[in-house]
Amino acid sequence: MAAAVTLPTRPSEREVLIALDHVSKDYDTGGGIVHAMREVNLHVEKGEFVAIVGTSGSGKSTMMNILGCLDRPTRGTYTLAEIDVGSRTGDSRAIVRNRLIGFIFQGFNLLPRTTALENVELPLQYRGVSSRARRKRAKGALEAVGLGDRMDHKPNQLSGGQQQRVAIARALVTDPPLLLADEPTGNLDTRTSLEVLALLQRLNRDRGITIVLVTHERDIAACASRVVTMRDGRIVSDVTQEKPLDAAAELTALPVADDGGPSSQHGSEEQDAAATKVGGPVPFSVYPMMWLGDALGYALGAVYVSAILGVDVGKHAWFPLLLGEVTKGWAGARWLRRKLGKPATSDQRVRTSLWYTLGTLACIVLGFIGMLAANKGAVRPSAPLLDALSGAVARGTPILLLVFAGVAGCLVLLRYLLLSLFNARK
Ligand code: ADP
Ligand code: MG
Repeated sequence: MAAAVTLPTRPSEREVLIALDHVSKDYDTGGGIVHAMREVNLHVEKGEFVAIVGTSGSGKSTMMNILGCLDRPTRGTYTLAEIDVGSRTGDSRAIVRNRLIGFIFQGFNLLPRTTALENVELPLQYRGVSSRARRKRAKGALEAVGLGDRMDHKPNQLSGGQQQRVAIARALVTDPPLLLADEPTGNLDTRTSLEVLALLQRLNRDRGITIVLVTHERDIAACASRVVTMRDGRIVSDVTQEKPLDAAAELTALPVADDGGPSSQHGSEEQDAAATKVGGPVPFSVYPMMWLGDALGYALGAVYVSAILGVDVGKHAWFPLLLGEVTKGWAGARWLRRKLGKPATSDQRVRTSLWYTLGTLACIVLGFIGMLAANKGAVRPSAPLLDALSGAVARGTPILLLVFAGVAGCLVLLRYLLLSLFNARK
């Protein structure tokens, strides 16, 4: 059963933060009573890092709900920071919860259309803190979790690990003595989980924040200073770990890019950071997408000119061509944002525009040469651009190259501008 644990160093100086005494929780499901917690005794001292493990249905979440003042014990007492919260009613419990506890959830639970900074400010807003003080404290909390440069990003512009760090900043901003986390790394890959754990260990060590964390992963539990195992609503073992795993050290030992590609949403934070600095790779699929966008815009433009206006497409080709450029920029920017999980950097947009333009021009030139070779010069170019080109051929290669470079340069610039225009739009 629940063995009371005395930590090795100066036990007399330690303060008990959490005390569950003979706590039971029954759920009346109609078809019978479920004993989700049975006579649980658990004392946690200030500054401990406790991992709760156990199979699904063993009562971990029920215990977290009671610890977090989201639910009340059916029997027994719950004392938090010397306040008997078990016997308190709704409003009074909400005040305790707001003052003493920070929550972290598996699914991050961030407001989607709101920036990281505003998400972190939210708990302070509930407390009636002035907007200037709110902003200052939220900035401090985001800097503490290493996201000082991502404050204006919305959740969909952040990786999973970064979103969880925003959630940790939100939990910390009220300076609670207790942090409760139910499967905080359940949605993250190994490396990102370790990064979140390293952050929690640092907060526990440097600020003395008490942490109670539910996990089903052995590696995560190994990082705690104490592991409590539950089964059928009871604590079946309670072990103090003299030398918990150091997540930061594990992280350096982990081979780089062990899972997830560099541009994947769940790629590691280090790779993310490097990618932002140098612009990051451009997914190849953006080129066919831009080509498709162009074809679609051109087709729409041609139909509009010939069927609706009733004029010759050949004479008014500028319209479908221009529309094609616009839809291409739109398709490219949207696809990049989708693939990268955030808007493309200007460097990525330049490279996308450059390689797209050079690629298509190369295809056109090769096609032209191929056509000439196949017809042994019998083809007479009729379009004005081709006439100009053949004129240039007649006058000499340097002029041809100049014209070619000029056209390519203008196209690169135009496409970069269009990609930028649609880049920030939702
Ligand atoms: P864990 O988080 O360890 O998976 P839970 O605390 O969620 O376990 O559940 C413990 C037991 O209590 C399970 O048998 C579950 O079905 C039951 N239980 C949990 N919440 C409720 C509820 N609101 N109503 C009825 N039964 C519940
Ligand atoms: Mg659970």
